[in-house]
Formats: sequence, structure tokens, C-alpha cells
Amino acid sequence: MNDVARSGALAFAPLIIEIAYLVAAVLFIIGLKRLSSPATARSGNVMGATGMLVAVLATLLHWDIVSWWWIVAGIAIGGTIGVVMARTVKMTGMPQMVALLNGFGGGASALVAGDEYIRFAAGSIDAPMNVQATIMLSVLIGALTFSGSLVAFGKLQELITGRAVTYPGQKVVNGLIFGGTFLLAAYLVAADANMPLYLTLSVAALVIGVLFVMPIGGADMPVVISLLNSFSGIAASMTGFVLGNNVLIIAGALVGASGIILTKIMCDAMNRSLTNVLFGAFGSNVTAIGDTAGADGRSVRDITAEDASILLAYARSVVFVPGYGMAVSQAQHQVRELADLLQSRGVEVKYAIHPVAGRMPGHMNVLLAEANVSYDQLIEMEQINPEFDRTDVAVVIGANDVVNPAARHDTASPIYGMPILDVDRAKTAIVMKRSMNPGFAGIENELFFADNTRMLFGDAKKSLTALVQHVKAGV
Ligand code: NDP
Repeated sequence: MNDVARSGALAFAPLIIEIAYLVAAVLFIIGLKRLSSPATARSGNVMGATGMLVAVLATLLHWDIVSWWWIVAGIAIGGTIGVVMARTVKMTGMPQMVALLNGFGGGASALVAGDEYIRFAAGSIDAPMNVQATIMLSVLIGALTFSGSLVAFGKLQELITGRAVTYPGQKVVNGLIFGGTFLLAAYLVAADANMPLYLTLSVAALVIGVLFVMPIGGADMPVVISLLNSFSGIAASMTGFVLGNNVLIIAGALVGASGIILTKIMCDAMNRSLTNVLFGAFGSNVTAIGDTAGADGRSVRDITAEDASILLAYARSVVFVPGYGMAVSQAQHQVRELADLLQSRGVEVKYAIHPVAGRMPGHMNVLLAEANVSYDQLIEMEQINPEFDRTDVAVVIGANDVVNPAARHDTASPIYGMPILDVDRAKTAIVMKRSMNPGFAGIENELFFADNTRMLFGDAKKSLTALVQHVKAGV
């Protein structure tokens, strides 16, 4: 390219970059909107990824400030690792993967802001106080997101204990460390550039991330990951302000807002406040009940797969209620097979989806979609609940807390007020689980002792396989 052409291209580059950023932002917003329904989620994902590609390519037009080869090498290496991770991760390992990706996002924001501070300290750039303040926020939030996400990953991957790690006076100690770090950040903004203090701030932010996540029980990690996801977005947005990069500001704000909305939805669906999730050390005291007698001597009625198959084959309407146990047992394909068989016999089949069934948002939708269950058979809690009165058989597959009627009336229950699926109102409920052990909330379930409930003990996949065989055998 000759000098005239090059200077002409350079003159237009800022305009092209801003237009490309606008296109990317629109793609992010429409993509996010499409993610809200399983039917459009796949295309929403593609739109979001395309938006990111447009944003990255536009950023490459800043050829005066980057080495192309570093960027191309980064895209190639990062892209390859991303594709391998996404292709090999099991569905049950998805929360861990999201935790890692959040952590890297937060870490990247902290590093970029750190680089700006180093240039500022070296006198290469001028940074007014507002830019310095956003640098501090970016480093604080980014670094704590990085270390907190790694702890969340470690807990879910069982590399470290999943239990809530607590000790007396912990909240006071954490409060003091957090307050001290915040004051240090404020001092750094007000004072001249000071690299040793800046490094101290970065290390303190990393420590806060660890202290923040350690006292939270492993099973609450999905809520924490959603919150950390929001933090990673806020950190990215702050970095966008530091760099004056519009698409980073917009993308970060979208991630920050959607993460916090998801966190709220999950807390509401569990009828718990965010404070209770973060500071309540919930789920750390799970009690094993173990036998078929309830605490007050009540006993359950069990049923064989053969008898259960007769109930199902002669029912008019059946509702499958999947829960965490279906994910553990990976029984989604067998559920689908049984549902198909029943439908071919003229039984009306639906699936009831509780918003926090399983251990991550959309867990049941994802598993059932993997088994090619059609979206219109997946019915949300509010829509399916009025139908249980008219349902012949509700088949509970490894769900426990989300079908516990105590949530409706027992004010002493830890899950009181949590919206549940009204399975107990069906004519008969068949519950598949391996034992009388409790679910995530660690409490007994009165549904199991109800007159119209039959317990089909065993691994869900094995029980479903047996049911399929019996129905096929022509009961
Ligand atoms: P639960 O955790 O209440 O119960 C799961 C049940 O599955 C257990 O009682 C267990 O009983 C059974 N189970 C486990 N493995 C198998 C197997 N191989 N075959 C058959 N059954 C099995 O699950 P729910 O889905 O009902 O509720 C989810 C809980 O998780 C709620 O309390 C929710 O608040 C919480 N939560 C959900 C999040 C989300 O985003 N979805 C995030 C954080 C928490 P047994 O051992 O006897 O087999």
C-alpha cells in the first residue's frame, strides 16, 4: 500500500471501527434476547459469537497500536482451546467451565487495566482521576472475579472441599480486609502513581476473591458463578472506560446486567435472598436419612417397575418431573424412550420444568434437548401446576426439593415459600430415587410418605430401562 492510500485508509479507520462496534453491540443485544427461549437459543449464540468476531476484527484496525501477529496467535491458541473445551466438556461439568471462563474474563480485564496503570506510572500516558478510578475498580473487580472463579471451579471439580469453610469472626475479618482494600484503592486514585501499593491492591483483590467464595457451600456455586459472571462483565465495562472502547463498555454492561438478573431469578426460585446464599453457609449440613421410615415413624410404599409400568401404560395423562437425579444418572434418553412408548399408546405426555431443578439454570431443558424432546412438551412450573389435579401419574425422576409440599405450608422448613411443582396433587406420584437420602436442602420430603405416592427405588436410568422393557413387553 503506498503512503497516500495508507493515510486515506487510516483516516477512515476510526469511523469503520465505530460502525463495526455498533453492529457488534446490536448483534450482542439481539443474540442475548434470543437466548431467552430454547427454540431460538442456538441462533442467539451464533449471533453473539459473530458480534464478538466483528468486534475483534474491528479492533485489529487499530494497526498503529497492536502487533497483528500477537493478536492472530492469541485468536488461534485461545480459539483452539475454547473449541476443544466446549466439545469435550460433559453437560454436568458446564458450571465449572463457565466458572473458568468468567475467571479468565475478570483476569483479562484486571491485566489490561494493570497495563494502563504501568504506562501511567511510567509517564507514557496521562490518566486523569476518573480514569484512575476506573483502573482501580477494574483491577479490584477483575482480580477478585479471577480468584473467586478459580475457587468456585475447584469446589465444583472437587479439587478442594465443596463444604462451606467458616470460622468464628470470619465476616468481621473479611469486612476489614475488604474495607482496607477499598481505602487503598481510593488512596491510589488521590495520590501519585505508586507501583508497590498498586501491586498490594492487586494481591489484596485476589485474596478477597478467595475469602468471598470459600464460605459458600459447593451446591450454591451456580448462584455464585452467575454473580461472578456479572462481576466479570462489570470489570470488562470498567476496562472499556479505561481504554475508551465503546464495544467493551456495552458488552461488559450486558454481561453485568444479565448476570445479576440471572442471580436474582435463581435466588427467587429458591426463595432465598442473595445475602443468605452468600453468607448463610447453606447446604453444609446435609443429613442422611437412609431408611424408609420418616422421622415420626411414617413409612413409604414402594412399587416394582412392573407394577409401575401397568399404572403408566393405562394412564390417560402422564407428567415427567425431572430433577438433579436425572442429571446424575444421565437418564434423559431413557425418559424420552419411555415417553415415546407411552405416547404411541395414546397417553398424553408432558414434562414439568422447575426453574432450579438440577444444579444450574436450564439444566433440565439442556438435558432433555440433548435427548431431542420437543420444546413444546417442556412446560414451565406456572403453566403445569394447575394441570396436576387432572394428571393420572406424575413420574418424579431424581427430583426432591422442587416437589416437597412442605415448601407450601411448613413455615419451619428451610425451603418454606419456594415455589414447587404440585406433584402431590396428581392422582398417583411415582418417585424414582436410590434411597431416602435428602436432596440439596438436606431435608425430609413429605411427598414420599403421601398415600398416593409410590417409591421406585434404584438408579433412575436402570428404573426407566426396566419400565421401558415392561411397557414393551405389552402389559
Ligand atoms: P435435589 O437435590 O433436591 O434432589 C436430587 C435427588 O436425586 C436426591 O434426593 C437423590 O436421592 C436423587 N438422585 C441422585 N442420584 C440419583 C440417581 N442416580 N438416580 C435416581 N435418583 C438420584 O434435586 P432437585 O432437582 O429436586 O432440586 C434442586 C435443588 O438444588 C434445589 O434445592 C435448588 O434450590 C438447588 N439448587 C439449584 C440450582 C440450579 O441452578 N438449578 C443452583 C443451586 C442450587 P438419592 O440419593 O436417594 O438417589
